[in-house]
Amino acid sequence: MPASSRPAAETGARLDQPVSTLRGVAQRLSERLERLGIRTVGDVLFHLPMRYEDRTRRIPIGSLQSGQHALIRGRVELAEVAQGRRKRLMCRLSDGTGSITLVFFHFFPNQLQQFRQGRVLECYGEARPGVNAWQMQMVHPEYHAVGSLDEPVSDARLTPVYPATEGVNQATLRRLAEQSLAMARRGLRDLLPAALVAGEGLPDLLGALEQLHAPPADADLEALENGTHPARRRLAMEELLAHHLSLRRVRHQLRNQRGAPVLRGNGRLVNAFLEGLPFRLTGAQQRVDQEVAADMAQREPMLRLVQGDVGSGKTVVAALAALRAVECGLQAAVMAPTELLAEQHYRNFRDWLEPLGVEVTWLSGKLTAARRRDMLERMADGRCGIAVGTHALFQDQVAFQRLGLVIVDEQHRFGVHQRLALKEKGQSATAQPHQLIMTATPIPRTLAMTAYADLDVSVIDELPPGRTPVTTVAVPDSRRDEVVTGIAKACAEGRQAYWVCTLIEESDQLQAEAAENTAAMLAEAIPEIRVGLVHGRMKPADKEAVMAAFAAGELHLLVATTVIEVGVDVPNASLMVIENPERLGLAQLHQLRGRVGRGATASSCVLLYRAPLTETARRRLSVLRETTDGFEIARQDLEIRGPGELLGTRQTGAWQFRVADLSRDGALLPRVQRMADRLLQEDPVGVDLLIQRWVGEAQRYGRV
Ligand code: ADP
Ligand code: MG
Repeated sequence: MPASSRPAAETGARLDQPVSTLRGVAQRLSERLERLGIRTVGDVLFHLPMRYEDRTRRIPIGSLQSGQHALIRGRVELAEVAQGRRKRLMCRLSDGTGSITLVFFHFFPNQLQQFRQGRVLECYGEARPGVNAWQMQMVHPEYHAVGSLDEPVSDARLTPVYPATEGVNQATLRRLAEQSLAMARRGLRDLLPAALVAGEGLPDLLGALEQLHAPPADADLEALENGTHPARRRLAMEELLAHHLSLRRVRHQLRNQRGAPVLRGNGRLVNAFLEGLPFRLTGAQQRVDQEVAADMAQREPMLRLVQGDVGSGKTVVAALAALRAVECGLQAAVMAPTELLAEQHYRNFRDWLEPLGVEVTWLSGKLTAARRRDMLERMADGRCGIAVGTHALFQDQVAFQRLGLVIVDEQHRFGVHQRLALKEKGQSATAQPHQLIMTATPIPRTLAMTAYADLDVSVIDELPPGRTPVTTVAVPDSRRDEVVTGIAKACAEGRQAYWVCTLIEESDQLQAEAAENTAAMLAEAIPEIRVGLVHGRMKPADKEAVMAAFAAGELHLLVATTVIEVGVDVPNASLMVIENPERLGLAQLHQLRGRVGRGATASSCVLLYRAPLTETARRRLSVLRETTDGFEIARQDLEIRGPGELLGTRQTGAWQFRVADLSRDGALLPRVQRMADRLLQEDPVGVDLLIQRWVGEAQRYGRV
């Protein structure tokens, strides 16, 4: 029976089989494999080598280069246990072109007997200069005896080296991969239409797996190892496609399952709110508000992402949406990524909405037990119209009487799963809430459509009038004194300033120390100003106290790590120094810079870099100097660094791939989308299998 006519479920199940169905995989090994994320036969096949060893050619000993990993053969000339500083087993091999010494620091007493004079050994290892520079050695090579120097080398293919873990060595991983490949050869259904794949110049699934796990001797090693090989791209494409499809399916199911409440209010609260605002909405705010209102008036649940540059006024749009829910007798939940931001939203909402008679609560870690109980009651019995909080909002004890709308701010900090969890809160047998997600990370359209395939997108592409754009300059570290003088001067004029310390790769601890040192240095250098400090190791309450003091004007200068990145609004702060900006991504720098330029005074941002800059860093900083348009910056960031950084996936882990890497494979995304369109039309069963294969357990999507 040809493979293609097998029933789909059977072939789908093959890769789904637990890894314990492979030979020699007992309980203990299964558990260890789990640590590598390997649970099924499919997982084994998608656990790709990180590099390869070439054991297909024997290298003459005389031609070995220092540092070369090579397969050699030689006849044992001499073997002995040398005493010296550290006891070691040494064995000299020669193949007629030269000789080499094998060195073992760890060895068994009887190991010496394996090195009987005259025996021929085959070894694989790294050649290094020995005690005498002219005599190469290999420390702890792999080795075994062979019949003669000239018999053919047994490996016809390159040897894969896999990411391993304690208790799971290369030999085990290779054995499992071989078995899984053998299984795949007996019937692996390619879920992508052959014509589509061939049209992309990519191999079929089995072909790709063969090339990745057992590449022929003449394979393009460099491409295999750097991930640009068509075989790897083929898998990346399939994985991206599966994720994209799973998001589209969530959306499809949400739209077709339970409806959402139809929220078409009488405008009483909305109009009163707009009249009370000290400003008029921008055209962009009005347009997006209308898009949101139209969504909420439908039975189909809204799933809308609102993108708007920092300072574009997303909060007002969120408040309008919340009021629409309240007007119809339903509740709204507003979720922020940090306590600080939640508090800021709470203040805004409370100041704006309580005069209208709408009760706003704030579910914070700061509340006393009694107060918290009271708030929970008010949410549960519906007295409170709007609840603001962090992810604490989706803890188990929190219940809403009738949740009609969920608003999530700064979405890139939350994973898709958290978003779904909050939505489940408001789910009843008959209805589910509308969802509005707001992000300040402008995402180019093709990327948004793929990464957020489950969302509609609105864009606030206009800033409120009266903003003076931030002037940005890049200054080398050697001129730090001038920068400090500049701060002293600005503070003397009554302005406030931020000093941002960046140390991204390092620990929280190191970041905190760097910020502490900088704060001490600045306080000493400018004794007449009051300096505050916030960093990630402080207790949230302490952090907030400092932020509040800064917002109230009690502190002149705030030294901070990147914790201040998101959303904080202090209009009087008009100067920002960012240390080592070359360490941050453009999008992040833009967000940071967005903390200033919120008032009427001219603001500036000093990028205090450490010379010399790399070419990429120089390009990035000049983009920031030249534009303050978040979308333009995002476009350039995408070009320079790739989409992984832009989506902030590093932080959230929301998009964790096994094979794909957005910064390498981002260019595949538009094609992924086209392919998804076709597949959904032509092969819905294949779509299910693909999602199951790649997203599998991780997808709670299918069940929401
Ligand atoms: P973000 O989009 O970064 O969340 P905010 O909602 O915090 O921006 O708004 C930034 C500031 O702009 C706030 O102080 C807000 O009150 C103000 N603002 C919002 N919309 C307007 C507008 N249409 N005109 C003037 N100021 C506005
Ligand atoms: Mg905001």
